[in-house]
Amino acid sequence: MLIVLLGKPGSGKGTQAVMLSEKTGLPHLSSGAILRDEIRERTPFGLRIEEYVLRGEIGPQELITDVVFSYIERKRYASGFILDGFPRTIYQAEELDEQYRPARCVLIDVPDDLIVDRISQRLTCAGCGAIYNTVFHPPSAPGVCDSCGGELAQRSDDNDEAIRKRLEIFRKDVQPVIDRYRDANRLITIDGIATPSEVFTALKNATMNR
Ligand code: AMP
Repeated sequence: MLIVLLGKPGSGKGTQAVMLSEKTGLPHLSSGAILRDEIRERTPFGLRIEEYVLRGEIGPQELITDVVFSYIERKRYASGFILDGFPRTIYQAEELDEQYRPARCVLIDVPDDLIVDRISQRLTCAGCGAIYNTVFHPPSAPGVCDSCGGELAQRSDDNDEAIRKRLEIFRKDVQPVIDRYRDANRLITIDGIATPSEVFTALKNATMNR
């Protein structure tokens, strides 16, 4: 059972993926988190993609696809997984269909004008990747992750320029992926404007009750 979550940066897909993972027991796999780990560990691949990630760009997509797929193979996800941030291009969608064929493709739909606010309020844990919102979901102690005690910070690509770039890439590269799933009657769209728990109810209906 492969569930793909699609949405703009800041649409809440990372937060929802964590909640769905806890509910279903399926592991959550974020391509952005895999890339950030590679960058943090200064691997040759991490050094190669660092500039792209900082600028909010796609980078060498064949290479990124290979790295994400080999991560999946290494983990041997027997009963499936939840994929967040992948596919981002038609090429990646085709490769994903060939290798794993997603059972559910869900778009969390949020208008652009909400995105910038949401991202500027976002804090991410450097240790475990947990996501907080300074207004709606603040940590118990400022700057400290409730889950692992790690340090919370703004992601280096959560700045105005990179956000603009990531929204542009969403329109140019990710929207065709969404259209492709929609045209094939494989897309479920849920409204991402509501509260996280309301969005989660819709997400559970979209993925678990079908
Ligand atoms: P995310 O955590 O999904 O917001 O991704 C952060 C950044 O990682 C993106 O802006 C891209 O630079 C890079 N990235 C994540 N997933 C992919 C992907 N599937 N293909 C190419 N680049 C990606």
